[in-house]
Amino acid sequence: MTKKIKVKTTLVEMDGDEMTRIMWQMVKDKLLFPHLDMDIDYYDLHVKYRDDTDDKVTFDAARAIQKYGVGIKCATITPNEDRVKEYSLKKAWKSPNGTIRAILDGTVFRKPILVNNIKPSVSSWKKPITIGRHAYGDVYDNFEMNIEQAGKLEVVFTPANGGRPQTTLVKDFPSAGIVQINHNLEQSILSFAQACFTYALDEKIDVWFSTKDTISKKYDAGFRDIFDREFTKDWKDKFAKAGIEYFFTLIDDAVARIMKTEGGILWALKNYDGDVMSDMIASASGSLAMMTSVLVSPNGWFEYEAAHGTVQKHYYKHLKGEETSSNSMALIFAWTGGLRKRGELDGTPDVVRFADMLEKAALETIEAGIMTGDLLLLAKKKPSNRKVNTEGFIDAIAVTLKKILND
Ligand code: NAP
Ligand code: MG
Repeated sequence: MTKKIKVKTTLVEMDGDEMTRIMWQMVKDKLLFPHLDMDIDYYDLHVKYRDDTDDKVTFDAARAIQKYGVGIKCATITPNEDRVKEYSLKKAWKSPNGTIRAILDGTVFRKPILVNNIKPSVSSWKKPITIGRHAYGDVYDNFEMNIEQAGKLEVVFTPANGGRPQTTLVKDFPSAGIVQINHNLEQSILSFAQACFTYALDEKIDVWFSTKDTISKKYDAGFRDIFDREFTKDWKDKFAKAGIEYFFTLIDDAVARIMKTEGGILWALKNYDGDVMSDMIASASGSLAMMTSVLVSPNGWFEYEAAHGTVQKHYYKHLKGEETSSNSMALIFAWTGGLRKRGELDGTPDVVRFADMLEKAALETIEAGIMTGDLLLLAKKKPSNRKVNTEGFIDAIAVTLKKILND
């Protein structure tokens, strides 16, 4: 038995719900604990325990990430009315991701995991395209109104310091219509820019940022100017040293260029654009089970998770005793992402190396044709392809990992 690798600083672990909770335990037992000596600060975000603690456990977990710097999270149920009944909850608690994001003040980055036997739908994409989505304002926090008849719509801005209110005509409606008013905050846009530059520097990839600045000369151009100012002030030299670039371009141009790029970039997008484009990138790159997600806070805190949910349908099959073939790739990559970051922050290259080796083992397993049902449908057809069940997939990765580590 070789000596276990020591993870120097405590890791914050957040356990979750349903099928992902089952895979989470297997990943720890079969892929992590046999090789790592880790101190874990554990938070059980199982929906029932969140309910028992009046959701205090979620807040405690977020504060633990602030304390230690790196957290790794399993998927969790965001309760709706059905879930309140199913688990006899006191109420429909808020989304844990929303709560944690609000406390850490972060931006979410989503990046597909690519394997050589599943080709992205866009043939030029060779490396992953990461989406950095601003998670504040725009249509998600807007004002809307039905206009029933002809008339004037005006907005009034009243300064908080008692200055004179300013009235501006929005539209002189000739007849009935509809209205939408969006807003954003300079501080939020600045945090978004800082998170994107931090992420890109960390991953050593170029940043593209795109808005419709030619048409929206204050709002979208305002985003552009904040990014430009922040880049020139704090990042230009660091980017030059790392050999990476930042550029802004009109969103139409970015959309056209993205189809011709090799990938390997961070595409920063406003809230709505990021919402829509991340689904396009996920679908064109493969499946939801192959999409990683990390919350990067401008304060230097990191939270890693899978982009998918708790895979409820598979869990119900599992409860009935039926065999499942759920894919644990994104959960494994949440752990490797967190471990690699921990290793970098602690200056422990053997932990970074372990994260690299585990990812390599997982990728090689799929590339050897051993995969779960979701991937079998997408992979290049080969006689050696073999569908395995949930546990069989993790077992196969464990075998490959042992081989790689002993080489
Ligand atoms: P989901 O868990 O993402 O699953 C939707 C479908 O995608 C599954 O039924 C499955 O398709 C496929 N899928 C997703 N992950 C997979 C995996 N690892 N392996 C194989 N197939 C996978 O979304 P949902 O069922 O709509 O949501 C379930 C719960 O998750 C909800 O309570 C929601 O609140 C929560 N949720 C949590 C997070 C989070 O914590 N980050 C994110 C989203 C949703 P097939 O059934 O066709 O095989
Ligand atoms: Mg979307």
